[in-house]
Amino acid sequence: MPLYEENQLFLYNSLNRKKEKFEPLNAPHVGMYVCGPTVYSDVHLGNCRTFISFDLVYRYLTHLGYKVRYVRNITDAGHLVDDADEGEDKIGKKARLESLEPMEIVQRYTLGFHSVMARFNAIPPSIEPTATGHIVEQIDTVKKILAAGLAYEVNGSVYFDVPKFNESHDYGKLSGRKIEELISGTRELDGQSEKRSPLDFAIWKKADPSHIMRWNSPWGEGFPGWHLECSVMSTKYLGEQFDIHGGGMDLKFPHHECEIAQNTASNGNPAVRYWLHGNMLTLNGARMSKSTGNTLLPQELFSGNTDKLEKGFAPSVVRFFMMQAHYRSQLDFSNEALLAAEKGYLRLMEALRKLSQLQAGGSSESDFDLTEWKKNCYTAMNDDFNSPILIAHLFDAVRFINGANPAACGLSQPDLEDFTQTINAFVTDVLGLEDASADDGGTKLDEVMQMLIDVRAQARADKDWALSDKIRDQLAAIGVQLKDGAEGTTYSLQ
Ligand SMILES: [Zn+2]
Repeated sequence: MPLYEENQLFLYNSLNRKKEKFEPLNAPHVGMYVCGPTVYSDVHLGNCRTFISFDLVYRYLTHLGYKVRYVRNITDAGHLVDDADEGEDKIGKKARLESLEPMEIVQRYTLGFHSVMARFNAIPPSIEPTATGHIVEQIDTVKKILAAGLAYEVNGSVYFDVPKFNESHDYGKLSGRKIEELISGTRELDGQSEKRSPLDFAIWKKADPSHIMRWNSPWGEGFPGWHLECSVMSTKYLGEQFDIHGGGMDLKFPHHECEIAQNTASNGNPAVRYWLHGNMLTLNGARMSKSTGNTLLPQELFSGNTDKLEKGFAPSVVRFFMMQAHYRSQLDFSNEALLAAEKGYLRLMEALRKLSQLQAGGSSESDFDLTEWKKNCYTAMNDDFNSPILIAHLFDAVRFINGANPAACGLSQPDLEDFTQTINAFVTDVLGLEDASADDGGTKLDEVMQMLIDVRAQARADKDWALSDKIRDQLAAIGVQLKDGAEGTTYSLQ
């Protein structure tokens, strides 16, 4: 029996503002879409947290036995500097400033994003579609929305007609906003605007002569509006209705509200059944912002090369730190908080190493109840992916491991196997935590070996055969074989 049949998962649906039973449309299949990054600069740590939160969601659904199709897009066109459909394209602007092709910017920051995600041990999505790869589909959707009478064309641009849509639907449902309040809170349209209402948003925008990224369309040369790609690509890969849509809280309005409007206008239904939103990350109690300097890049966090931290932290430690907060809670990064997380993380990893040495048997002197403990772990995760509570239960297990007699831990052989398998599944598969100390050791050994290989190469170049033989023979004596080949010297451990 798959685990999802024994576990009733509840998740907090932003749409209805309450926890709801998760019932996928088509179990064991689950469709999940998460808004990805706009690749015009180094990925922001706040964005990393969002993607790591949804990595946890993806991992737990997979652990439960669901077959998840996880789609996360790359925004590589259409995201303008100004949210009010004005200004340059963010990628186009960066390309102009650096005299590069927009696609060079896209390539550079997409690779950078992937490498940071890999260091955080986040599993790549099943499909990672790009806006520029789906221009044809986006144009088709604009046509559909026009045909439904919910958009209008002005001078080569097409705008979504929000007040018209709101006559028969509830625009603002997700973010809890009322259209009257939205209108009164918006700037008056100046005489230059093509929009009929300040709430209307571009689904296709005419490219002015300086705009680099442009495509042909029935309305002339232009580019898709930013909100459109997510509606179009989620529908293409997950269907007109799908299970989960995730993203950062800051995307709830207007981005996700606009997605709902576009999906409803083009396909007759709002598409998404469960909306999940991750909370923000702050740094030393304040919002992260490039303009105030209160910001930290992932690389600075790992290397410690910043005045915000006294040292660097391994990606696994940072990941553990993030998992100690619920994804819907705000999380504050600080040197002290990271140091405390590092201690906890090292205790957990140490206990896992000890666990592998434990022997079954003996009478149990602790009050550790395996069945109850397992239930507690699943109950935590079934309650809207409550990783901090899960971690608290993992530390119940750590206390048991540390207190157990290694020669006879008090669990029977089958129970010890079950316990080991369960704790490893939660730590490794669900929380995605790797043993950073083991990884560090590997990297250091590589560096030390490279140094010895270089010294030996120099000795050989100097015809100092005594030294080069000594290095080779002494390494062989401790079980390290050197192999000289066309590509240079490599080593292997016996
Ligand atoms: Zn999106």
